[in-house]
This record gives sequence, structure tokens and C-alpha cells, in this order.
Amino acid sequence: MMNYDVKVIGAGLAGSEVALSLADKGFRVKLVECKPLRRSPAHASDDYCELVCSNSLKSNDPLTAHGLLKEELRVLGSKVIEVADVCAVPAGSALAVDRKLFAEKVTELINENPLIDVTAEIASELPSDELTVIATGPLTLSPLDDAIKNVFGSLHFYDAEAPIVSAESIDMDHAYFAARYGKGNADDYLNCPLTKEEYEAFYDALINAERADKHEFEKGEIFEGCMPAEVMALRGKDALRFGPMKPVGLSDPRDGKRAYAVLQLRKENVAGDMYNLVGFQTNLKIGEQKRVFGLIPALRNAEYMRYGVMHRNSFIEAPKVLDACFRSKVYPNLFIAGQLGGVEGYVESIASGKSVAIHIENVLKNREPEPLPDDTVIGALARYISTENGNFQPMNANYGLLPAVEVRDKTERKRIMRERSAYSINKYLEKHNGT
Ligand SMILES: Cc1cc2nc3c(=O)[nH]c(=O)nc-3n(C[C@H](O)[C@H](O)[C@H](O)COP(=O)(O)OP(=O)(O)OC[C@H]3O[C@@H](n4cnc5c(N)ncnc54)[C@H](O)[C@@H]3O)c2cc1C
Repeated sequence: MMNYDVKVIGAGLAGSEVALSLADKGFRVKLVECKPLRRSPAHASDDYCELVCSNSLKSNDPLTAHGLLKEELRVLGSKVIEVADVCAVPAGSALAVDRKLFAEKVTELINENPLIDVTAEIASELPSDELTVIATGPLTLSPLDDAIKNVFGSLHFYDAEAPIVSAESIDMDHAYFAARYGKGNADDYLNCPLTKEEYEAFYDALINAERADKHEFEKGEIFEGCMPAEVMALRGKDALRFGPMKPVGLSDPRDGKRAYAVLQLRKENVAGDMYNLVGFQTNLKIGEQKRVFGLIPALRNAEYMRYGVMHRNSFIEAPKVLDACFRSKVYPNLFIAGQLGGVEGYVESIASGKSVAIHIENVLKNREPEPLPDDTVIGALARYISTENGNFQPMNANYGLLPAVEVRDKTERKRIMRERSAYSINKYLEKHNGT
């Protein structure tokens, strides 16, 4: 006799949301997590819900697609976003968190919940007969990845992590605090300016530096949204100056001048003793990272708390195998939440976890799961992953997924989309909660 209602495999961003949301509704969850027995190459602690790269959950502004998705998640009662809000560190209009505190708090909530029973186990197969959520993420450990591949088929791409440096090692004679165009708190970002000569020397070193695994890049399987700096640089001498090193809106408050290029650093934790190199995911060899990034004057003597790395990042071909409730078309007891199911990004993974929790609640109450509305970001993501697509790639939250609003003014258009989303999500919730 099973002593739980649903099994969730993987206590990452999506799995933690599923488990906490279902326990909150009174259901018993068996949560299977491979930590502390084994960790993926990107996971660095034994806590659940770990942010493996940036500490930013992107914009909090509800007039952006990412901000709107968070707003929807708050209305739906996302447990993980609730913790993120509590662990926020200053980051202008973005929601960035103290990653350690964030993971610790989610872990505590899970461990203290009497309805969640955590089992440390490296799952190796897909149960066929019990209600199960697979949320093992883009770095699913073997042999489960093969089992998933056998059942669902598999695709993959590669992406990378940015380095983190200690605050005390940054040369403040060559750095200054400023928010772009003065929006947000001036001390959220530490800016590292470069002159034209410094930029050119840095650029040359970057494109000629030795990479850790050149072969994989040559296959061209890099995800656009998390492109290594050295790969972006190869697109042209100014590609970085129009990307992560763009200097516009970042004049040096000491002399009012705009630099030729600027690398931004963002606080990594509440204490502010670590900074990450914003947009500088990299796959350079470790020694090369120190040498090449050391050409940026502020980082001449930087001490690296973590070097950038590159990982395999797997996902299934969702449109062929999942419906808009993240449920297997062939095995209705199986749901896939998180990045493995075809969404891309921290908040998107949390969002798919929240959706799956709602759908499982329906299944457990003998009701038919109902996709979230198309005109919400959370619903539009679910529709995207379940709509036929010959060139399927995991998807970030963006307005392009939502039904168009025929209004010329951009701000007004976004405002209407926000209102439409609020109306639909509340209506959906009323029906779901029977109110
Ligand atoms: C290197 C890297 C960097 C990324 N950087 C960013 C970023 O900066 N910003 C962003 O928005 N997104 C980023 N992503 C994408 C994505 O948002 C994250 O991977 C996110 O953590 C996905 O959430 P998830 O719940 O699907 O998986 P995860 O959070 O990875 O959770 C999966 C969980 O399952 C466990 N697990 C794995 N295999 C097994 C098994 N066989 N048995 C039991 N447990 C298992 C893992 O230990 C983990 O706890 C990055 C991805 C990678 C790989």
C-alpha cells in the first residue's frame, strides 16, 4: 500500500514547487532526490532548489514578460517565488536572490513539511503505473536520462555559467557603482569600464583564448540565451559592446564620461562579498579565464570564487510527447516539470512546476486537468511546449508567445496584456478552487 499520493523525482526549482504546492493542498508527496548521494557537475551544494548559475530571476517589472510571469505565479500561490521574494538582494528592477539563503529556506520548508517524505536516491527508471512527476532538470543523472530517452526521445544543447569573483579583489580605482540610465539603486551594479585600447586587447585575447571543450561548440548546439562570451565575440568585434559590455547609460559618476565598453558585475549574495560577471558565461580553460578577464582593469587581481563552465543541457521534444498540462500523451500518469520538459530558465521552470501541481491536484480529485489560459505567460509557455514545432527549442517567457494586442503604443499594449492576464488567471483560479 502506497503511503503517498504522488511521487516527484528531482528537488530542483520545478520539483520543489510541485512538492510544496501539493503538500500545501494536503496531498502526500514522496520526493526523490539524488543529493547528497550524487550531484550534477553544475550543482554545488546538497540543498534543494539550487540556482546553478546567475542569482537573478530576471525582471520583476510586470510590464515585462518575466515580471508578468512572476506576478501570475504570486497570484497562483507559488511557494518558491514566495521564498525568492524573501531572499531578494538589490538588483534594480530585477528579482535577484541570495542563492545560498534561497536554497536553504526552500530546503527547510521541504524538510519540515510532514506531508513531504524525501528519499535520497538516484532514480534510474520511470514508474509506469503510479502518478509521477519527473523534474530532474537539464542535467538529469544517468541512467534515468537513458530511460527518459527511451520513452520520450531526447534532444540536447549546451550552455554555460559565468564566473564569480570576490568583492575585495575588485580594483575599485577602475570600477564604479551605477545603474543603467539611473534606473534602480546606484549600488546594485558595479561597472568595470574599458578604453578602446583596453577593449581591443581584451577582445583579441578572448577570441584567441583556449577553450575547455572546443569540439562541442563546433557542433553549434549552443542556446542563444546563454551564449558563452567568447562565442558571442566571434560574431564581430563590436558584438560584446552591443551585448553584455554595452556602455550606454552607464557614465562614470566621477567624471561624467562614458567608457568605450563596460563589464557589469552584480552582487551574488546579501553580504555583497561576491560578484558575478553579468552575461559572461564562458567555457574558457580556467587559467585562460584568469588571464583574459584579468585584462579588464578592475579585474586585474580578481580572486575567482567560481570559474565559468559549460554543461550538457538536455530536454525532451515536448510537442511530440506532452500536452498543454505537461502530461505525457501516452502515459497519463507521467508529468514532466521544469527545463527537461521544454521551458527554459529558472522562473519558467518554477512556473511549469506550479502548473503541474495544479493539474495533479485535479487528477487526485478525479477532475480533468485544464490547461492554464493562453493569454497568461504561464499558459502560453505550456501551449508553446505542446504545439507542433519542427525546430523545437526550450523557451523563455516572452510577449511573442501571447495572443497579439492590436495597439500601437508599446507601454499601453503591455498594460493591456497585464490586465488580460490578471483577469484570466483569476477566473481560472476561481473555477479551480470552486469559488
Ligand atoms: C549550467 C547551467 C546554467 C544555467 N543558468 C541559468 C541562469 O543563469 N538563469 C536561468 O534562468 N536559467 C539557467 N539555467 C537553466 C534552468 O533554469 C536551470 O537549469 C533550472 O535549474 C532548471 O530547473 P529544473 O527544476 O528543471 O532542474 P534543476 O533545478 O536542475 O533540478 C533538478 C533536480 O533533480 C535532481 N536529479 C537529477 N537527476 C536525478 C536522478 N536521476 N534522480 C534523482 N534526482 C535527480 C538534481 O539533483 C536537481 O536537484 C541553467 C542551466 C544550466 C545547466
